[in-house]
Amino acid sequence: MRGQREAWRRLPQVDRLLREPRLRGAAARLGAAPLRCLVRQALESLRQAIRQGRLGEKDLQRQIAALPEDLAREADGRARSTLRPVINATGVLVHTNLGRAPLSAAAIDRVRQVAASYNTLEYDLDGRRRGSRSSHLERILGLLFPGTACHVVNNNAAALTLALHALASGREAIVSRGELVEIGGSFRVPEILAASGTTLREVGTTNRTRLADYERAIGRNTGVVLKVHPSNYRVIGFTAEVQVRDLAALARRRRIPLVVDQGSGLLLSLAQFGISEEPIVGDFLRQGAGLVTFSGDKLLGGPQAGIIVGRRPLVQRLRRDPLSRALRVDKMTIAALEATLESFLRGAAFDEIPILRLLSRPAADLRRRAEALARGVCEAPGVRLEVAVEKGAARVGGGAAPAETLASWCLGLRPLGGSEPKGTATSSASAGPRLTGLERALRLGEPPVIGRLGRDWLWLDLRSVHEGEDAALLEAIRRAGGVLA
Ligand SMILES: *Cc1c(COP(=O)(O)O)cnc(C)c1O
Repeated sequence: MRGQREAWRRLPQVDRLLREPRLRGAAARLGAAPLRCLVRQALESLRQAIRQGRLGEKDLQRQIAALPEDLAREADGRARSTLRPVINATGVLVHTNLGRAPLSAAAIDRVRQVAASYNTLEYDLDGRRRGSRSSHLERILGLLFPGTACHVVNNNAAALTLALHALASGREAIVSRGELVEIGGSFRVPEILAASGTTLREVGTTNRTRLADYERAIGRNTGVVLKVHPSNYRVIGFTAEVQVRDLAALARRRRIPLVVDQGSGLLLSLAQFGISEEPIVGDFLRQGAGLVTFSGDKLLGGPQAGIIVGRRPLVQRLRRDPLSRALRVDKMTIAALEATLESFLRGAAFDEIPILRLLSRPAADLRRRAEALARGVCEAPGVRLEVAVEKGAARVGGGAAPAETLASWCLGLRPLGGSEPKGTATSSASAGPRLTGLERALRLGEPPVIGRLGRDWLWLDLRSVHEGEDAALLEAIRRAGGVLA
């Protein structure tokens, strides 16, 4: 007991620790109160260790001496935002974990202008009266899809939930068994239906659904016919699905609204880039869908949003639904989406929208850039990395076009000089510690670089890297390569 009291007395006071030079800087970054809290917690856990007799004399001394440094490191870690820009070298363009679509310069500008000042979000300048928040996107979407009305909510999951709730709550939604999909862990069609208060009425089979299946299922309790683009998986072989055109004709005849979840928000054909399986929003509208829903931040290349375009009477039912208020978008989303859609109107989407720009660059450009980076790595003094330049196969991502790839070029990196230590696995499944060390150094650097490990190399796919990032990428590789040396 006496030893314990003795040990407790050796612990520094909170205020004395806070006066340590190392911690004064940390206070400026983290804030005085959170830092004081951290210091208290650290001292308390030392006290507890002493109480439980887990700390010997030597350990205690060492830990006390290290306190300022440890606390400063901890404080700096907590002071740093965890939402940070990264270089996406995975070759997956719409990468849901990496923030999906980067915004265009025009979209960012518009957000800055609108967000920094008072604005006309709900004010009608001409009439000097209250205006409508939806008027702004109606203007632009009306130009892109003439003759339709629109409504915009937080994301496509919300768009579908709202459409089902407004059109079919308390009644049935008819869906093909081949379209009861899961898209990204938390979006599952049957669960969205349940959340919107509709009853799922499955028709057809997993691989084949015919028009007659829908026809038989439509009855007095049908609220809506729903068609979901399965996005992230394909049924191949002995299959049949009903085209939107035929389903639309049936729905019209039976006076049931047809809602089509298009998903990706693709507005222009990507066939010239080797992506032909992804449907286009406009096609579904032309084929007679009552409403089409899609995301704003996949292949549309804008902010996170759920966009609903279609027949005015249906859109009005959605607007009147009480859920609409809960799901409505902010001025920043409207500003970014408006500027993004304007690029499509001007015919400049493939130049101005980052996701489409990345997608449409010629593979030869990527090769040149990969080779320039490889030279830059080799010429850097003190960087002990082996480099390779190889063809790659990039992906659209975001659940779109799962069976198709985009021609690409990759920069391969691995530590130079000798193989991995004996006994360590060097298969692609589990890279050795030196290679994973390189991967880790790049991932934890500034800016973080996210690549892909495979066949004993770290691959950086240039398809998903903006041209403007090459210099920063080279710097990051040189630093990571230097750290390892
Ligand atoms: C991505 C996707 C969704 C979900 O959209 P969010 O904007 O992520 O909510 C729904 N349906 C389809 C077909 C999709 O591809």
